[in-house]
Amino acid sequence: MIKFQYVSKIYSHKTAALDNVSFEVKEKEFVSIVGKSGSGKTTLFKLILAEERPSNGRIFFDSQEVQKIKTKELPFLRRKIGAVFQDYKLIHSKTAYENIAYAMEVIGASDKEVKKDVAEVLEIVGLTGKANNFPIELSGGEKQRVAIARALIHRPEVILADEPTGNLDPYNALEIIRLLLKINKSGTTVFLATHNKTIINSLEKRVITLQDGKLIRDEEKGRFIL
Ligand code: ADP
Ligand code: MG
Repeated sequence: MIKFQYVSKIYSHKTAALDNVSFEVKEKEFVSIVGKSGSGKTTLFKLILAEERPSNGRIFFDSQEVQKIKTKELPFLRRKIGAVFQDYKLIHSKTAYENIAYAMEVIGASDKEVKKDVAEVLEIVGLTGKANNFPIELSGGEKQRVAIARALIHRPEVILADEPTGNLDPYNALEIIRLLLKINKSGTTVFLATHNKTIINSLEKRVITLQDGKLIRDEEKGRFIL
């Protein structure tokens, strides 16, 4: 479903943020990507979202070559991808419900559809009771749940989670990973960038390791080794 073929990314004549990286993620996989800060994890996600272009190599999403997608078609690619970030990226002036509904309203969904779908994703993340809370009234773990609910709203094929537990305590971090595992079990591919060694080692799932932009390890039931 996601394929990198000899992909490099060089920002403004500096050393490569990604250096000749090749891998493939299949449908319904749960893949973690680890590597020190600056090793290229976020760049890799930005390339999948077509927010950045590769300097070399080719990237495929569902057999479509990402760089060849026309600008006006990009929203369709991005709707197949749910993105989750370390800092949640919620709108502070909107409630949990409104933060999620907004993503549907901008594509012109009817009120009835919005109500039904938002209720459904809030239920998945276990936040039905907090629908009317503003971000400031939510804990870090709850804010990340809202962000995950928002990422699920277009029923994406894949969730790209970029250090989603980076601002959370170990308990809430584990809860977020459990939620990602549940989402994966229901059929959504999950691609998780993380620093969390304990979590990676307990998952026993595939781990890709980046070092200075190079893919140095790609193992089923991988361990966190840097
Ligand atoms: P990670 O997410 O693993 O911390 P990044 O993908 O953010 O790594 O960064 C990889 C490398 O690319 C770093 O050296 C970083 O400084 C550089 N980099 C990232 N984004 C930009 C940018 N927009 N312009 C120039 N250099 C960048
Ligand atoms: Mg990053």
